[in-house]
Amino acid sequence: MSPRIPRAGATRLATVTALVAAGLAATAAGATGNAGRDDAPRELARAAADDTTQIVMVKAPTVEDRNEVIGLGLDVTEHADRRGIEVVLHDAEDAQTLRDAGFTWRVTVKDLEALTKKNAKADRAYAASVADSGLPSGRTSYRQYADYLSDMEQLASDYPSLTRPLTLANKTVLGEDIRGIEVTVDADNVKDGKPTFLLMGAHHAREWPSAEHTMEFAFDLLQSYTAGDARARDLLSRSRVILVPVVNVDGFKISRTAAPLGNFSVFDYEMKRKNCSISANTPAQYTTGSCDNNLAGRLRGTDLNRNYPGFWGGGGASTNWSNDTYRGDAPGSEPESDAVRKLISERAVTVMISNHTYSNLVLRPPAIASTGFAIDEPELKALGDAMASKNDYVSQASYQLYDTSGSTEDWSYWITGGFGYTFEIGDEGFHPAYEEAVVGEYLGQAPADGAGLGGNREAYWLATEAAADRDLHSVITGTAPAKHTVSVTKTVTSETSPVIQTNGTVGEPLLYTDKLRTDYTSEGGRFDFDVNPSTRPLVMGRYGREAQGPPQAPITLVNPVGVPAVGGSEYVTFEVQGMPAVDNGWLDVSIDWPATADPEAQDWDFFLYGPDGEPVGSGATLANPEVITIPDPQPGTYTLEANNYAGGTAEYDWSGTVAFRSPDGPTGTKEAWLLSCADKRGNVLATREVIVDRGEAVDVGNACKRNKE
Ligand SMILES: [Zn+2]
Repeated sequence: MSPRIPRAGATRLATVTALVAAGLAATAAGATGNAGRDDAPRELARAAADDTTQIVMVKAPTVEDRNEVIGLGLDVTEHADRRGIEVVLHDAEDAQTLRDAGFTWRVTVKDLEALTKKNAKADRAYAASVADSGLPSGRTSYRQYADYLSDMEQLASDYPSLTRPLTLANKTVLGEDIRGIEVTVDADNVKDGKPTFLLMGAHHAREWPSAEHTMEFAFDLLQSYTAGDARARDLLSRSRVILVPVVNVDGFKISRTAAPLGNFSVFDYEMKRKNCSISANTPAQYTTGSCDNNLAGRLRGTDLNRNYPGFWGGGGASTNWSNDTYRGDAPGSEPESDAVRKLISERAVTVMISNHTYSNLVLRPPAIASTGFAIDEPELKALGDAMASKNDYVSQASYQLYDTSGSTEDWSYWITGGFGYTFEIGDEGFHPAYEEAVVGEYLGQAPADGAGLGGNREAYWLATEAAADRDLHSVITGTAPAKHTVSVTKTVTSETSPVIQTNGTVGEPLLYTDKLRTDYTSEGGRFDFDVNPSTRPLVMGRYGREAQGPPQAPITLVNPVGVPAVGGSEYVTFEVQGMPAVDNGWLDVSIDWPATADPEAQDWDFFLYGPDGEPVGSGATLANPEVITIPDPQPGTYTLEANNYAGGTAEYDWSGTVAFRSPDGPTGTKEAWLLSCADKRGNVLATREVIVDRGEAVDVGNACKRNKE
């Protein structure tokens, strides 16, 4: 796709002004409001229809196109790539909606009901024929919710000193506990100052593999440690792993126990995605009945992964109570997402992964284009790419697919500074055959793309290593008497996105307040307290740093002699220099070719590979010119692949240049942690401000020395 990389200084407020001035805010932001539509879920009409349900790949090569598809209010999957986005078509009316909007598509699943039945049959056959899957738990079939509870109880009982059962701070809408398990050496000592890796599943109820993978990693950690595995011994001595396999407990229980219809209809509760809350906007006739038996069917509820306060209310989330991406009545309004927010707010969660299905993706912040690249983009990308080298997923910033406001990591990263990722596991369906989506994807076995590379198991180990890596977070060192508690706290108020209203207009951002607090209890003497950086990435500003030298001179690419056949590629290399000669903050490859009226008649696509041969960017859309922009390009030899996607001839051949720019300067301010020390009775003895950046360690001396001594 053609990257759209907002530059430093493009504040969100400026964006609002521009959008409002242009008078096209809602569609530009990809909002899915219910303007021009009554409050009845149009999807209800589908219940009576006996059309075959299909999954289709809608041609949508740019982010703008994909945002427009999302704006149509169809059942959009999380499966999108540089050419399009997959949509579930329930009936002829859905197809007409797409057609009227000018979209074309190809069918990827002709009959979803038949496929779902085939998968269920395959699951039964697999479970009957295999005694042990090779997974850490040995399981051969999808767990019911009770299985998660009993597995966590069993692990707590088998490994008492290495585990601590965890109950999140809020109950679900239906009054259930949200349960997890903590794993580390001496796990009961929560205030041990270790950095934390948080792994979660099932924000979305129907995405069963996301919970399975989370649970299996708990078995993996404990079995590896007990077997004497050196990596597990090392990591669990200096970091903590918290696993919450099922965040959306209510929805998950409904999805797992529903009688499968396999047709994705509104009353097919197996396909429920959201939680069980009833929006204030729900018409009265849809507010009665239970979550698993009501007139709105599976469509009641809030999308927990559109409800987090960070950038809540923007594009890529629906204002319509019955839509599958409904954002909820207010930022953080749902008890389940709020419970996760509270957990992250009181632990030093330095790395977080929220598992989902499906699309073979490792997604990093930002999830919404208007925020621009994260200031930590090089580090975020490096970890995302490293994890993707184990499961062979595509690693990219989330917004590069389409906007998603209110997602977990867009709150956790921008507010707490902890690195956050979404894994979209597998490449076919929300809960496809167990052998593929769980066994294959977890262990890295065929037919998973990560076969032979280590699979998600190895990706999670890398995340654990990153969570423990002090180059990627911050450390406060000092001394404190035994049983004294050293705390870092911060109360910060941030803005949401400019809030898209139900009528499609854009209102002011809302303010919300976060209280972050992490405690460490001293054993006496020197301490190391692992924390996230004191400054929110949100106020630290966008990607930027001081230039250490001039940028490199531009390069004209030499197009190889001849033109590859349609479908074929040709390659050209170029050299990127580095310090001390030049300091390249940005690399822009720009390629164009003679244009005709029909942009599809001649279409070149471009793929850029870095010095290590790994892909670093692509320009594979219908745009002409195609532009590939890379921040902080590493020095070395780059290879550009020019793919003749359609109609490239000698007459319509490409030419290109590589230009370099200095880095954007650093922007924003610094924030401090408030560091306090309390004695064992809770009397605060000392307070001070501590500024500590990512990768830094700050020695505060005696943290408990009274301020006036
Ligand atoms: Zn999901």
